[in-house]
Amino acid sequence: MVGFFIGYIRGSQADDMEIRKTATRESVHQLFDAVDAISVQGYDEQRRVVYWNRGSEVIYGYTAAEALGRKLEDLIIPADMRGAVIAGHRDWLEQGVAIPASELVLRNKAGEDVNVFSNHVMFVDDNNQREMYCIDIDLAEVRRAQAETVLKEHMLRAVFEATPDLFFLMNADGVVIDYHAGDHTNLYVAPENLIGQRAMEFLPNKIARKFQTQMARAMEQSGHSSFEYELNLPADLAYFEARVSYLPTQAQFMVIVRDITEKQKAAKMIRQQAYFDALTSLPNRFLSLDRLSQMLKEMERDGEQAAVLFLDIDDFKKVNDSLGHEVGDKLLVEAARRLKRAVRKSDTVGRLGGDEFIVLLRALKDINDLVDIAEGLLGLFREPFRFDGRELVLTLSIGIAIYPDNGASASNLLRNADTAMYQAKALGRNAYSFFTKEMNDRILRRLEIEAQLHGALERNEFSVSYQPKFDVRTERMVGAEALLRWRNPILGQVSPAEFIPIAEHTGLIGPVGKFVIKQAIAFLGQWQAQHQRHYTMAVNLSPRQFRDKKLVEFIAQTLREQEIEPARLELEITEGVLMNGEAHIDKALADLNELGVLLAMDDFGTGYSSLSYLRRYAFDVLKVDRSFINGITLNKEDRDLVVATIAMAHSLGLLVVAEGVEERAQLALLDELGCDLAQGYYFSEPLPPDELVNFQHQSADRPQTE
Ligand code: C2E
Ligand code: MG
Ligand code: MG
Repeated sequence: MVGFFIGYIRGSQADDMEIRKTATRESVHQLFDAVDAISVQGYDEQRRVVYWNRGSEVIYGYTAAEALGRKLEDLIIPADMRGAVIAGHRDWLEQGVAIPASELVLRNKAGEDVNVFSNHVMFVDDNNQREMYCIDIDLAEVRRAQAETVLKEHMLRAVFEATPDLFFLMNADGVVIDYHAGDHTNLYVAPENLIGQRAMEFLPNKIARKFQTQMARAMEQSGHSSFEYELNLPADLAYFEARVSYLPTQAQFMVIVRDITEKQKAAKMIRQQAYFDALTSLPNRFLSLDRLSQMLKEMERDGEQAAVLFLDIDDFKKVNDSLGHEVGDKLLVEAARRLKRAVRKSDTVGRLGGDEFIVLLRALKDINDLVDIAEGLLGLFREPFRFDGRELVLTLSIGIAIYPDNGASASNLLRNADTAMYQAKALGRNAYSFFTKEMNDRILRRLEIEAQLHGALERNEFSVSYQPKFDVRTERMVGAEALLRWRNPILGQVSPAEFIPIAEHTGLIGPVGKFVIKQAIAFLGQWQAQHQRHYTMAVNLSPRQFRDKKLVEFIAQTLREQEIEPARLELEITEGVLMNGEAHIDKALADLNELGVLLAMDDFGTGYSSLSYLRRYAFDVLKVDRSFINGITLNKEDRDLVVATIAMAHSLGLLVVAEGVEERAQLALLDELGCDLAQGYYFSEPLPPDELVNFQHQSADRPQTE
């Protein structure tokens, strides 16, 4: 409408096409009278107001009555513009140079600036008088809006710059349209490669998929969605939280990415401190037990077996006390590292405290596998621990409890594994042991024996019995084996099979062993003197006794004191003594051989029965274990073994003694097989010395003759 009007007026500027009709002017006035958004003012040739519409009052503050008749330059033109306005108006009248439309800053009634966009047209009236019309549009609103936009832009920039977050503007396809990054180190791609790229293409697959789902979600809900993710940045692994907003009018996504690495790290550290051991970084007692309970639930649900291994480093306290806690700590760290390396990912290695560790093995296929696993764990420690130019050998004791056989609850299993661990310690350390129901009782009994053994020697609770030994062919008594007896007021008679391992463990075997040697040699002297005959006396020696550097000297001295020829004494050792290959044992055996005492390999057939030991050491006698003698008349395997053993022993020049002969038939068969000597209940149980002195063997078919 305005455009039409202006065009129409403009046409009027041509000399021959002037609008003269007052009617037209009147109707135009009518048209604008009530318009209040646009100011229309008319001026005569003296620039006096001839028309002033409602819009003029609104913009400039003067009513039509106030304005009419006043001059343009006195009304709304600021002082510094007056000359130019008057000149412009004159030029138009005189030379037809129109005043161009332009933005102007005019003045209102209150003397304030008014921003307007001003158009000007020249009218010719009925009397050929020219009237200039100014059509002004108030720019105040536009200016305000513009200023606001600029302010908002500044604000936004300030916000961007002040926040460390990353901002990405993406289109519906995830193509980055714009971004802002206060800190470029958090950008996954170089900034120059960002714009125009699809985020899904440059992000790692897993994260790209997350983005896609979250963007879809934000779009569906026409709102926001947020999620967390981690990215491997060149500097480090970083954690982020992304908030995706969908801007529906632009069909764009605004993604704000916040670096939450510090927060995550702090949370992780708190978790770490609560659940993990600070020294070894293994799960601590709390987490270990929690994992155990969790595992048991799963095993119950899946109907599977599991195992709890309780590990304790042997003599760790000694290391700590002698080398210091720093060394102890290093050892624990290395031990933890080795243990961790040895188990499956799904299994747990935890530190219960001190030198105690726990291993949880889930979903066991075969209980027998535990043997390998336990051996494997022991094997881990075979390699010496090296640090600070030092080498240390540590061993472990392992107790094993099996779910569900040895307990259904975490606390029961743990306690039973602990009990089994003590059993392993009792086995001589560097060992593992399974928990069984009887084990608790056995442990208690063991502890009692240990307590009672203490001081038993001083209280004269020990004695020695003698089991006579016979020539198989003639059934003549040729000697005896000295066997220790212990009678305790509280425990009664305790079998050496039970107390000797404990005495070995506590070290008591040293003095007790000497007691036996002394008694046996003294008795031998007495016995030979009374019978006016030579006998051999066999005495058992434990591995631990060899630790006594003066053992050989002690034996030699005792023999001298009792005036017994060394060849009358026979020392029985088991293979176990030799298996460690310890140099001081080799030396002691060589010295004993030098001294002239006889060496017997005891319990042959059990254990490894390695022939190489027989060849390597100067044995004189081989004692076949009674478990084989037991079977010789019953099964071929035992008989074959005894036959082979005798043949081999003879080929090496050894005498063969059969242990535990209980029946006449066994003796007859042994005679047939060429066995040299025999002992056993068939002849006699071990006897107190006075009974042995008076002992008479009644042969079934051969009366004993002197
Ligand atoms: P060992 O040296 O093999 O001793 C033979 C064991 O077999 C003795 O058991 C003896 O009583 C038993 N025995 C003998 N004849 C028969 C028989 O016909 N039938 C059966 N069933 N058993 C028979 P004991 O006295 O209970 O000794 C057990 C083990 O304790 C000994 O086995 C030996 O290894 C150890 N021991 C005994 N005394 C001493 C000792 O003074 N020092 C050391 N280090 N060990 C000893
Ligand atoms: Mg023996
Ligand atoms: Mg034996």
